[in-house]
Amino acid sequence: MLFTVVGPGRAGLSFAGALVASGWQCVATLGRHDDLRLAAADCDVVLITVPDDQIAAVAAAITPGRAVVVHASGAKGLDVLAPHARRASVHPLMSLPDPETGAGKLRRGGVFAVAGDPVAERIVTALGGRPVAVDDGRRPLYHATAAVAANHLVALCAQVERLAARAGVPLDAYWDLMETTLENVRRSGPIPSLTGPAARGDSSTISLHLEALPTDERTLYLVLANEAARLAGRPPYREQTRTVSTEALAVTPTTPTLVPTIAELRARLDAERRAGRSIGFVPTMGYLHDGHGSLMRAAAAANDVVVASIFVNPLQFAPTEDLAGYPRDLERDIGVAGTNGVHLLFTPDVTEMYPRPMITTVSVAELSARWDGASRPTHFDGVSTVVTKLFNIVGPCRAYFGEKDYQQLAIITRMTADLAIPVEVIGCPIVREPDGLAMSSRNVYLDPAQRAAAVVLRRALDAGTAAILDGERDPERVSDVMTSVVAAEPLATLDYAAAVDPHTLEVPATLGSHTRLLIAARVGTTRLIDNCGVDTGSVRPLGTPA
Ligand code: AMP
Repeated sequence: MLFTVVGPGRAGLSFAGALVASGWQCVATLGRHDDLRLAAADCDVVLITVPDDQIAAVAAAITPGRAVVVHASGAKGLDVLAPHARRASVHPLMSLPDPETGAGKLRRGGVFAVAGDPVAERIVTALGGRPVAVDDGRRPLYHATAAVAANHLVALCAQVERLAARAGVPLDAYWDLMETTLENVRRSGPIPSLTGPAARGDSSTISLHLEALPTDERTLYLVLANEAARLAGRPPYREQTRTVSTEALAVTPTTPTLVPTIAELRARLDAERRAGRSIGFVPTMGYLHDGHGSLMRAAAAANDVVVASIFVNPLQFAPTEDLAGYPRDLERDIGVAGTNGVHLLFTPDVTEMYPRPMITTVSVAELSARWDGASRPTHFDGVSTVVTKLFNIVGPCRAYFGEKDYQQLAIITRMTADLAIPVEVIGCPIVREPDGLAMSSRNVYLDPAQRAAAVVLRRALDAGTAAILDGERDPERVSDVMTSVVAAEPLATLDYAAAVDPHTLEVPATLGSHTRLLIAARVGTTRLIDNCGVDTGSVRPLGTPA
């Protein structure tokens, strides 16, 4: 077969070399200064290997003759070869770095996308390659995929190279990791090959990474971390609550300053911000215990200034609830706050916070409707509204909430993301009494018999956890296990016991690898809540139920 190449660049000369080595004859290689009119007159194939945006002009300059006109673009269809009735395209799915290496690679049996005249397949077969028909409609997609596979992978490797240099770790170490990862993906597919913090839903580690990365490296990191999270069936990083451990946090005791007014608090915190100091915030309703203390210690460990608020918020109590009798002890609270490193204790009264009736409500739909929201219909609107107002008053960098109120934490995290409130919401683990009862200001309502009975919530959670770890995946059956534990305690009346998705708080059809067990029960007249996470490890495939 006789062929002519138009466009003697890397691709053109690679093809010329490979075809000649395969027994074809090259009539001419033509460049930009050559007359193209007769190129198709005295050969079987004219191969156009100019840049994509010049193909149409080059094809138009060639007078139709006996040759089939072929382009080697991955993205273009056959229409760019318009004047020629016999046309085709051949695109090698490989990079051609220079004519010599390129000629060798073309003859190594790779894949070529072909379209149009059968001569395209003949070219590929002559080179010993594998032709794959890609029609014009799928051409851009085919080419985009090639760009991701080749070019984007290079961009990612370049990030690895830059970060390895910064970390002072030899690049070789990461090459091994990348090669093994690619092998795993080829063998088992992407989802089983996922490891690392995004796949585990470990948002604290992702936060650490983001803080360590130079600003201009963060976008790429975050886009891909969120994609890994999506593959693992997890929500994007921004919508996950970051949790921190509160164990063994040492703090320097303080003498908290009581600040009862919004104006004074703003003035003090404006000064702190001007001095470049970070502000950590712990909202509470007072009657402080070590659960609150753990939040304060977490705030003290990560911020220059710690603000805690004590405000029993009427908006989150229904008329039938315990607003008037809610336990209060400011003197003791000042002591607990000081032991745990609080600098400013914001103690507004109701008229300071709500000088006139509030007609504005912040409401986080769906998340607020179920579980505690079903039993206390106005509760979470009251919480989201007061927390928004407190965020606006304090302007913290970080705000700390207990996982004890797991649904509240999910609502605040979602609200902060939805309203783009510039504060990082941080969740802290539940602090328990030695017998396992979650600490709560309301535990003071319990008489000794009720106090002993209250441990049933924790026992029910333990039974639910054991059932899941034993392989139970039906959320209703896990709920039944917890329910029967509470039923055996005469002083307790169950409100709900559920096994839910930790992010949506919905009951899934089947339990996945991450579950939150939620429970609420009345012991006497006191309503108690508790919860725990159960992880069974493996990553769940995309699209399967949580
Ligand atoms: P409260 O004063 O009940 O409104 O609680 C104020 C904050 O302390 C909330 O973020 C609670 O989730 C958190 N909290 C209450 N009890 C505990 C506990 N036992 N462990 C951890 N955090 C808690």
